[in-house]
Amino acid sequence: QDFIKCLPKAEVHAHLNGCIPLKCLQDLAKDYLANNPTTAADEVQRGLAVLETGVVLTEISDFFGLFPAIYAVTSTPTAVKKAAHAVLSSFLSGSPAQCQYIELRTTPRKTPHMTAREYFTTVLDVLETFQGRAALILSIDRRMSIEDVKTYVQMAKDFKQAGRAIVGVDLCGDPLTGDMKEFAPILSSVHDAGLKLTLHIAETPQNDEEDTLMLLSARPDRLGHATFLTPAAQAIVLRNQIPVEICLTSNLLCKTVSTLQDHHVTNFLSHKHPVVICTDDTLPFRNSLFEEYALLLAAPPLGLGLSGAEVERIAHVGMQATFR
Ligand code: 5GP
Repeated sequence: QDFIKCLPKAEVHAHLNGCIPLKCLQDLAKDYLANNPTTAADEVQRGLAVLETGVVLTEISDFFGLFPAIYAVTSTPTAVKKAAHAVLSSFLSGSPAQCQYIELRTTPRKTPHMTAREYFTTVLDVLETFQGRAALILSIDRRMSIEDVKTYVQMAKDFKQAGRAIVGVDLCGDPLTGDMKEFAPILSSVHDAGLKLTLHIAETPQNDEEDTLMLLSARPDRLGHATFLTPAAQAIVLRNQIPVEICLTSNLLCKTVSTLQDHHVTNFLSHKHPVVICTDDTLPFRNSLFEEYALLLAAPPLGLGLSGAEVERIAHVGMQATFR
């Protein structure tokens, strides 16, 4: 345990609204329900109850149903500020902290109380108080209209040009939505502004090769999950040495991987391919970066039984794969 805690680590695949500590979410829900006794109150109470009891998912699509309740309670700048601070503190505070450096990602969101730009600025303002230990990735959701994709990619470029702590753009959201032929050229354009690109890719067996190859054509600098790469897609990923963000607990709970021993990380490791160990969404998955690394080290069937030296190497690769 001490070995894992002391290992220098980077977290590069964590979604802000998926990583709000439960206690913070409970406080935000209390504030929300006091101010909005009728609007979406049932949804908030139901969502909170599920997160408090522990999430059981039948398939990955169930996962996205958790977010409307979370979004309801993080719909004002004050709530976003509290949530962002709690998330970043959960990763960066404590001795030792879960990680030395985090690239947190979040999707710009407009609500009746703020514009998407205000949302993103609020998160950036909080994140920059962590002084070089945190950077932001702007997430594009596959469910967005193409107009919104263009607007938010431009927003990422504007923030970068203004010298704010943004390092990249991500593609996330329901993996079976959106036309990637339309998205790919817009996503690829972030490179011209000095931003890096990471894409959730081949997350489900239903993501066909056309979708995956189209995303690879955008020249991503890292990939999220990459669970169901076809041989042709895998050849591109291996040849270009594109680091893969690996979220063990997330994949097991979303049932895209059946056991740890069957996890695609073993395939990447056998090719000596760069991987980064990440948490994804600590709120529903109740995991931590320490626990994710412990899964690498623990003997099978609980873990992958990797040696200390191999785990140390993986943590080092993770630090090298950041967008700084
Ligand atoms: P936010 O971007 O609002 O801070 O974080 C929550 C959002 O991240 C969710 O609404 C969802 O779009 C995205 N997200 C979180 N975890 C996953 C995941 O495992 N896969 C995909 N495709 N999207 C995710």
